[in-house]
Amino acid sequence: MLTELNAGDLQALKEWLKSRTQTIGADIYGAAAGIIDQVRAQGDQALKDLTKQFDKVDIDTLRLTEAQIDELAAQADPAFVKALKGARDNILEFHEAQKQNSFLLNRPNGVYLGQRVIPLDAVGIYVPGGRAQYPSSVLMNAIPAKVAGVKRIVMMTPPAANGLVEPNIACAARLAGITELYVTGGAQAIAAMAYGTESIAPVDKIVGPGNAFVAAAKKLVYGTVDIDMIAGPSEILVIADSGADPAFVAADLLSQAEHDPLASAMFVTTDAGLIRKVKEELQKQSAFLPKKDIVEASLANYGRSILCESMEQCLEIANQIAPEHLELMVENPMNWLGQVRHAGSVFLGYYTCESIGDYYGGTNHVLPTSGTAKFSSALGVDAFVKRSSFLHYTKEQLEQDSAAIQTLATAEHLQAHATAAAIRTPSITADDQKA
Ligand code: NAD
Repeated sequence: MLTELNAGDLQALKEWLKSRTQTIGADIYGAAAGIIDQVRAQGDQALKDLTKQFDKVDIDTLRLTEAQIDELAAQADPAFVKALKGARDNILEFHEAQKQNSFLLNRPNGVYLGQRVIPLDAVGIYVPGGRAQYPSSVLMNAIPAKVAGVKRIVMMTPPAANGLVEPNIACAARLAGITELYVTGGAQAIAAMAYGTESIAPVDKIVGPGNAFVAAAKKLVYGTVDIDMIAGPSEILVIADSGADPAFVAADLLSQAEHDPLASAMFVTTDAGLIRKVKEELQKQSAFLPKKDIVEASLANYGRSILCESMEQCLEIANQIAPEHLELMVENPMNWLGQVRHAGSVFLGYYTCESIGDYYGGTNHVLPTSGTAKFSSALGVDAFVKRSSFLHYTKEQLEQDSAAIQTLATAEHLQAHATAAAIRTPSITADDQKA
């Protein structure tokens, strides 16, 4: 259950959080590097051999046809399909609003400059599928790429026992508009997307969560392709005031704890009585959870409550920890949102459980973990575009600016740079630059 701390223990809490961060061992890197080499040397055959070795599945054809995806998607439960469509629409709307515009600035004398926002040509989405299925991950990774305008989106996921994918995964792929789907998982999928094989053309960026082999492979191929992030264990920090229902607080802490024994559920409040009630609720609710063992291990390892003196102090703690998910279970949460500087995603009010964001609300669930919210953001449309600037000068304006350009170039001992301006404006030299 929750270990009780007070605000003075913050430094200890930060140290402990850091120690929790999963480190990928040299053995995993070694295995991932070996798999990458094998895929580079043997292409498709390596994908089939490694799938047989690790997933115990024989695959004849790596790529599912669109007809196969449709057929599998049609087998999904109608209630699931309806729910997933609702999620898709909300995620689409949110990410449409994220789109950045290109811009053009006009200056006197015919000068103009600007910036174009250009989608990446091809991206790869890894959808984990070893121990569980994650259709929500398909939507969260693919929709921002679609909205960004990426033309080619490749999806790779481990095969189901029959060499295909589960209906729910096919359904999510269909709803996200994915047509290029390969049934291969693990480090071999990452290698295939980074370097290509006979049947898979390489991509420019790979996104999506996965186990340690996937994470190690993503780190190893970074540079050949871009990657999104390496996600650590999941975490939630709930700030609750005395108006919060202890049963709600406990439910949300448990929803994080059931992910993983390394997940952390943190509860920060000014109300000592609420801590006691939340602990009682945790006992009560966890008894009925199918993943009770994971929950208990997670709370014992990384469940914490922190008693603060003021709401300001609660928020300062949240900013120091920079959690992946932050819930403000307080009255008038918008009054406090401005004071949140570091959090992957913020959930406001008594009725916004974090699982709404995991599945349905529209915000992205791929979020920075392990304090990286201090400098990075949720997966979004910007991850799938790049910016390219442009500039147009005229003779008239260059004559005005040539002396300054020559002066700056000369100061850096780059004579050819100065000459490129001088040769176009023969009557002007660096000496014309006025102090
Ligand atoms: P996975 O798809 O990441 O890995 C399965 C693959 O690993 C297999 O296909 C196999 O090829 C490979 N593999 C298995 N054993 C191996 C071995 N000994 N050597 C080399 N390769 C091996 O699926 P998973 O294992 O279930 O892990 C999924 C992870 O993704 C979990 O940690 C889960 O928590 C995480 N996840 C995170 C998010 C998020 O948004 N942050 C969402 C969903 C899942």
